[in-house]
Amino acid sequence: MITCISCPKQNHKISIVIPAYNEDGNLRELYSELMKILPKLDKSWEIIFVDDGSPDKTWEEILLLNQKNKAVKGIRFSRNFGHQYALFAGLLHADGEAIISMDADLQHPPQLIPELIEKWENGSKIVHTIRSDPEDFSFFKKITSKIFYKIFSFCTGVNINAGTADFRLLDRCVLDSVLQFRENGLFLRGITKWVGYPSSSVMFQSSKRYSGTTHYTLKKMIQFGWHGITSFSIIPLRIAIIIGLLTSGIAFSSIVYVFYVKLVTGNVVSGWASTVSILSLLMGIMFVLLGLIGEYIGRILIEVKQRPRFLISEQVGNKTDHKRVDKGISLQETEIGQ
Ligand code: UDP
Ligand code: MG
Repeated sequence: MITCISCPKQNHKISIVIPAYNEDGNLRELYSELMKILPKLDKSWEIIFVDDGSPDKTWEEILLLNQKNKAVKGIRFSRNFGHQYALFAGLLHADGEAIISMDADLQHPPQLIPELIEKWENGSKIVHTIRSDPEDFSFFKKITSKIFYKIFSFCTGVNINAGTADFRLLDRCVLDSVLQFRENGLFLRGITKWVGYPSSSVMFQSSKRYSGTTHYTLKKMIQFGWHGITSFSIIPLRIAIIIGLLTSGIAFSSIVYVFYVKLVTGNVVSGWASTVSILSLLMGIMFVLLGLIGEYIGRILIEVKQRPRFLISEQVGNKTDHKRVDKGISLQETEIGQ
């Protein structure tokens, strides 16, 4: 059960959670941009970087920033587990009353943070951000993102605006609800919409990546989108049933037609091309449907195994006696090599 009984705002600490994969060229610049904003807030704050198993010097950069400022904390995954899990791990460790997640590449402007906090103080429990497409966004990325969110809304009934970014503020009580989600196919954009609560949104103009290139290749984008839809909806299975019924109807009418030709007109059906093409069409559709069902069964298998969703190999600045739990396993049990 998801509860949000009391939402105290005693110390008004702000946590900034930043997943980072191969971002060694961005972290220092991001930190200095954040330092122009955070000290001016009349609040205590922490920055939690989550190194998602980067082979470059991302972790070394995090250690340096931690030496410079103890409010900078770091979590290092044992390997690359993916953006959503890195984000989740950071959220799990955040102490603040308001938790802001943002990307490490400066595409999410830190200058927006005061506005997010203002909306939160005015009563929003979730402050979403909606990005106007940056100049370096390809037409392909724009159109596929629009189509994806239309399909997602149709299948799940959860409306997400195209351009919704993983740059958002969550109130502590919303975060505690979000942390109760135990699934492996995490899709935080959907979850943070699904949970409800009073929310608002802020538009922003996304800028170009400061350094490096995107990690969302076409393959990763398709995987991300497919996980998003299948973890939220079984409508694709229902569509499969409709397609199955339609093709069965077509197959049945062709049998009726064959009998009609044979018995009424007396013409023997000559050639095999039409039969073969109908059969192969039906077989093709059958395999697609079986694949779809297999996909869901595979997802069920992954979920029932209850594996930890990520492994933490190192930490800096965090309390290791953290009492929050992931999948009923204390954080320490998911940490290795400590
Ligand atoms: N990221 C991550 N793990 C991954 C891929 C990406 O933690 O496997 C982080 C990345 O460092 C960045 C954020 O997720 O902070 C968004 O990634 P990216 O900028 O590559 O995506 P885009 O903005 O192009 O959609
Ligand atoms: Mg980016």
